[in-house]
Order: sequence, then C-alpha cells, then structure tokens
Amino acid sequence: MRRMSSAPAQQSLFGLPEGKYVRVALDTPVRREFSYWAPPDLSVEPGARVRVPFGSRQRVGVAVGIDPHPPVGVDPARVRPITALLDESPLLTPALLRLGRTIADENFCSWGNALAAMLPATLRRGRARRTVTRVELIGAKLPSAEALDELAQRFPKQEKAIAYLQKAGGPVELREFLNRTGLSRSPLDSLQKRGWVRFSKVEESSLPFLQETLRDQPPQLTEQQRVCVDALCEALDRRAAEHFLLFGVTGSGKTEVYLHALERCLEQGRGGIVLVPEIALTPQTVARFRARCGEVAVLHSGLTDAERHDQWKAIRSGRVRVVVGARSALFAPMPELGLIIVDEEHESSFKQESVPRYHARDVALERARLEGAVAVLGSATPSLELWHAAREQRSIRLLELPERVAGGRLPKVQVVDLRSESPEKGHWLVLSAPLRTALEQAFAREEKAILFLNRRGYAPAWHCRDCGTVVHCPSCDVPITYHKWRKRALCHLCLREQEQPQRCQACSSTKVQLVGVGTERAEEAVVRQLPEARIARMDRDTMLRRESYEEVLNAFAAGEYNVLLGTQMVAKGLDFPDVTVVGVLNADTALHQPDFRAAERCFNLVSQVAGRAGRSDRGGKVVVQTFLPDHPAIRHAAQHDFVRFAAGELAERREFGYPPFAAAVRVLCEADEVRAVDRLAQQAAEALREVAAPQCGVLGPAAPPVERVRGRVRRQLLIKAMPPEALAPLRPVLQELCQKQGIVVDHW
Ligand code: ADP
Ligand code: ZN
Ligand code: ZN
Repeated sequence: MRRMSSAPAQQSLFGLPEGKYVRVALDTPVRREFSYWAPPDLSVEPGARVRVPFGSRQRVGVAVGIDPHPPVGVDPARVRPITALLDESPLLTPALLRLGRTIADENFCSWGNALAAMLPATLRRGRARRTVTRVELIGAKLPSAEALDELAQRFPKQEKAIAYLQKAGGPVELREFLNRTGLSRSPLDSLQKRGWVRFSKVEESSLPFLQETLRDQPPQLTEQQRVCVDALCEALDRRAAEHFLLFGVTGSGKTEVYLHALERCLEQGRGGIVLVPEIALTPQTVARFRARCGEVAVLHSGLTDAERHDQWKAIRSGRVRVVVGARSALFAPMPELGLIIVDEEHESSFKQESVPRYHARDVALERARLEGAVAVLGSATPSLELWHAAREQRSIRLLELPERVAGGRLPKVQVVDLRSESPEKGHWLVLSAPLRTALEQAFAREEKAILFLNRRGYAPAWHCRDCGTVVHCPSCDVPITYHKWRKRALCHLCLREQEQPQRCQACSSTKVQLVGVGTERAEEAVVRQLPEARIARMDRDTMLRRESYEEVLNAFAAGEYNVLLGTQMVAKGLDFPDVTVVGVLNADTALHQPDFRAAERCFNLVSQVAGRAGRSDRGGKVVVQTFLPDHPAIRHAAQHDFVRFAAGELAERREFGYPPFAAAVRVLCEADEVRAVDRLAQQAAEALREVAAPQCGVLGPAAPPVERVRGRVRRQLLIKAMPPEALAPLRPVLQELCQKQGIVVDHW
C-alpha cells in the first residue's frame, strides 16, 4: 500500500497540479463516479482499490478510469488527492469492471454498489480482520429456572439471548447470533457482566475447503449425456461464448455433464465457476467436484471474512481453477474463465434481495459473453424465462436429459386431498393416512424418509374464535408465529418476540387459539403417531451453529435418524439412496403468496422435493398433501410434467402481461408515516407516467401485500412493459428514483 502526501505537491506550468485524475466508484447510492488527484509517478490502474476522502470520512473505492485532466467544470484546486493506493496491481479484471457497470445499469444501483458486492468484505473495507468473535454460555454457571423467569420479566432480551445459546449447545459466532436473533450486542454484554456468558476471539481457520481428496473414476456416460457433453466441449474448443440450458429431470446425470465439461475446460488451461443454491452447497456436493477436479475453492455465506479473502487470492493468482459456490461466487476473479455453470438455475435464492439486486442467471450469461466463456444453466424445472428463450426465441441452446440414469425411475407421486382426511382427535392434521402407511412400511424395511414443510415454528397464526381476528406483529403487517421451545410469538420479519397473547386484540375474547402447522408442531405429531420414527428437524430454530447442518446430515446418513423433517433445507440437493419416502406436508403454502410466480414456485418445490426419493433401485414413493389437488402446479408436478405446466403457465403470462413477455419493475417506497410515503409514491408515479408509452402500464401507488415492516409504511408502484423494450423511456427516471432515500427499484 502506498500512502500519499496530503496535497498535490507540484504545480505545472499551466497552474494545474502535475499528475492524473483517478475516477473512483464508491459504494454509495449516487450513480456517478468521483475524481481524485494522484501524483504522476503513482501507477494506479483501473480495477485497483484506493482509499479516498469522502465528506469528512475515508472510504475504500475502486479506480475505474484514469484521466489526464480534471473533470470538466471542476476547479482542479478543489480535487482532493487520493489517500492511498491499496493494490499495486488491479484486483478486478477489466471484464469484471464492465460486468459491474452492466449490473448497475440493469438493476438500478451505482457502479460502486455493484463493484463492492463483488469483493469479499475484508477487501471492501480495505483491511483484513483475522479473528472472529464467538460467544457461549459458561456451562458451570447456568442460571436457575427461577433466575431465568425473573430475567424474562425484567430483561427479556437477555433471556432470549440465553435461550438461543442454550439451544445452540456450543460457541456461536457473534455475527451469526446478532443476525439470527435480531438483538444488539448489549444484552450479551450485560450477561457477560453477570458472569453467564463469555466472548472469545479465535483465529480464523483458513481454507477449510481447499484440501484435495481422492480422485474418482468417472462413470461411462449414457448416450444422452454424451450428446450434451459433446455440444459443450465443441463450444469450449471453439472458445465460443455460447449459452446452454441443460433441462434434465432430477437424477438424470446433469452434474456428470458439468464435470465432463469442467474437465475439458481445465485441460484447456482455463478455469470454471459452478454456482449452486446456497442450500444445496452441501459437503456432498463439494466432495463430488473435488473428487474429480482436484483443488476446488468453495465460496458460501458461512465463510468467515478471512477464509473468503484467502480463497479469493488463491483464485486470483490462478492457483485454484475451479470455484464452487453460491451466488457471490459469480464474481470470483478467475484469470482465464472458460465455463460458468449455474445448477438449479430456477432457484429463487439466485436473486439477490439487497443492492445490487441482480439475478445470478442474467449475470452469468453476461459474464460469459464478456469473457468468451461457455455458460450452462441447468435445471429439472427451468425458469419460464429461460424455457421461453430456449424454446421460442432460440437465444439459448437447449440440451435435454429426459430420463434418470442407470434405469432409475422417477418416483410415483400420490396426491392426497387433505379435505377428505380427518385429523386425530384434538389435533391438527399433519400426516394423512396414505403418508402414515408409507412411512410405516419404510421403517419396517429400515428405509428412511424426508418430510418437507415450508414453515418453521409451531403454529403460523394466532386466531380469535369469536371474531376471526389474527394477531399481528405490532410493527409489521404480518401474523406472528408461535415457537413452542421459546413459549413466545415471533415475527418472522423483524424477529421481535412477544408474550403469548391471552386475549384477542380486537374483541378481548379469551378464545384465542393456535392455528396451522409449522415444523415444530409437525415433529410433535410424527413422534406421537409413529413410535419408530427417529426425527431430525432441520430449520432455522435447530440449525444454530455453523456445524449443525453437516452434523445432522452425517447422522442421518449413518442411520442415527430415519426421518429428516424440515424447511427448504431438506428440499434441495440431498442424495441419500436409502430415502424411499418423501412427504410434502402442505404443498399449498407456496401457492398462497400474492405473486405471479407463486404457481411456478410451487411446481418447482414439489418437483424438487419429490426428486429426493427413489434415488436407488429400491424405488421411491412421494406423497403430496394439499387442499388444492386440481391446481395445475400440483397436478403437473405429480406427473413430472414440466413441459405441460410451462405451456399452461406461459399462456397465462402472455395473456396477463407478465415476464417473460413483459418487463416488470417494482418501485417500493417507504417512510415513517402515511402522509410522507404517499407523497413520495405519488411523485414517483407522476415522473414515470410523464414518460411512459401506452405499452407501458404504471400501476399504483397502492399498498403492497405487507404494508408495514419494522414500523415503516410502504407503498408500491408496479410497472409492466409489454414488449419489454417499452421500458426504455422509463429507465432514466428509474435510475434517478433509485438514488432517493426510501425508494427501492427492483425487477419484480
Ligand atoms: P442430477 O444432477 O441430474 O440430479 P446426478 O449427476 O447427481 O444427477 O446423477 C444422479 C446419480 O447418477 C449420481 O449418483 C451419479 O453418480 C449417477 N450417474 C450419473 N451419470 C451416470 C452414468 N453415466 N452412469 C452411472 N451412474 C451415473
Ligand atoms: Zn376477537
Ligand atoms: Zn415484526
């Protein structure tokens, strides 16, 4: 790192200070770059990080251009010098800089926002932290039950902290703790003073995922796999920036196709990036890539800053040429990139829900284009956008694997109509008779089951039997969820806890009851009804430590448990040959979302969960429980018929003007009170309507489905442009709006 003297030193003949002007992209919402002066002998190149003064503070930004002159109209004497150059050679390649620019333009944020998202946090901040803080209970000094009760009365936050740590059963990373509980650090500090918890700083472990394991022999490819691999290798050999959609049912050997293409890419001396959904980033997945590709860098959200930093450097230096990771691995600084793979491309987790709000699928295609790389997007249930692009527009090549390998058949799916099932007396219905029978049979054969329910907690709502009112969070417009292990109600949006309500908020009736079933309640029911079941529950309430996920999966594989019951965590990427029964406890949860993608999401979920069954010659059975057995999403998923489902859904999207036939953009406004938010939204609507062509509808302002979050009121505008190009005149206005406080512009 080179530090600068504080002011431009020499003046040239013309009165301008000698030197150059560095354009710097900063991580602020403002969509422009800022110029700083640098001395002539400083070799700063685009892509390097610099520290610069911004207002009264210092910030780290990325140099994106070097000019000989100060910006037009700016008094050179007022251009401030950069404080320090942080990288002798550029950290971001020219292609990544351009990629950042495109992300910013397409997703309504600044170039600096996009570039910051590409860098590991340590590099974004300018210095590496090498330790993590962990927090744990001091076992010997656990407070008594009475002490805890008292604590809950007087200091509920401290009690919440203790309960969490107790449940975790070991040291938890502080960052993770704060994130999950929504608490600040101060209750922990108080507990430390009482001598109940302690903090420890540990040196970050480095590169836990970088070891090499034994190499596997690849299986003989099937005929269908061979066709796919040939097409990919041919494109790789031509160094063509070609895009492929690999449409293959679960278990059809898509991963094997990826591996062959990767091998070819490595032979060429190039590298590859493999994106998988965070949740599918299991040790199982990683081991498979490592067994075939040798050294593999793994980038996922559980990495500490230092780990991420080290992996980044290993990739940047060219030492590691295969990266497997979640969304952010897209930005791995691979010097010679030949191949980008996005597995389970339809996954909603590929969409980032904070700035920059990009979709990994689009960015993968764009990066491949910029770098002359091949992009392969794979799925058993392709997103309708891509499916349409491949089938109708032919802008992406379609490769298909219609059958499971090795004669494996897709499991039989039985749809059970919950309306005709009766619950146990005094309980909510969890297991239908067919599902219970299937489970009993599986246990008798010493086989295992996976049960899926997309709702954590005990019961998703509290409801008054007299007037029908549902108890809501005081600061958000959503029902609260009861968590039995805490004996409290929790808002899943703001994480605020409250006591069990004794009376209805509206009519003061005491007949409030818990309605519906979450994973906690489902677990209770299974234990009650099936004594043979040894259940591991997997949801955010049980997976509290970094290691929990892997521990439970290992125990399940080893037979310690025979049922895995959980949320999305159990739906994706798991491959256990002795799982023969899969139950979807309530397929409708996904359908009730007020969103035009609800049906697509439900179809995907049911298909993916079903794909966990019958992955060996023992076959498998899937039971899907629903109150809507005739819904096309459920009917077609049960028949494993993506093509029909897509055709029906696309016809509707075309008729009602939704993507992929239209561009859909949402402008979300937020403020502390109704008047302010109405004004903000009204102004935005007027600005947009002024430029909108007739093919472009601006709907609203209206209240979004969740009108209040954390005490802030929200309004939304929905823009539908059909054809998508009709959005063009609105873009400049949207680019203005996204810089305003309280406004979020996003694809919808
Ligand atoms: P997908 O990614 O489509 O779900 P996988 O690549 O995981 O499918 O393949 C499913 C299973 O079949 C894996 O256990 C894999 O090792 C095996 N497999 C894949 N291709 C072949 C093949 N050509 N011959 C034998 N087994 C294969
Ligand atoms: Zn009531
Ligand atoms: Zn809330």
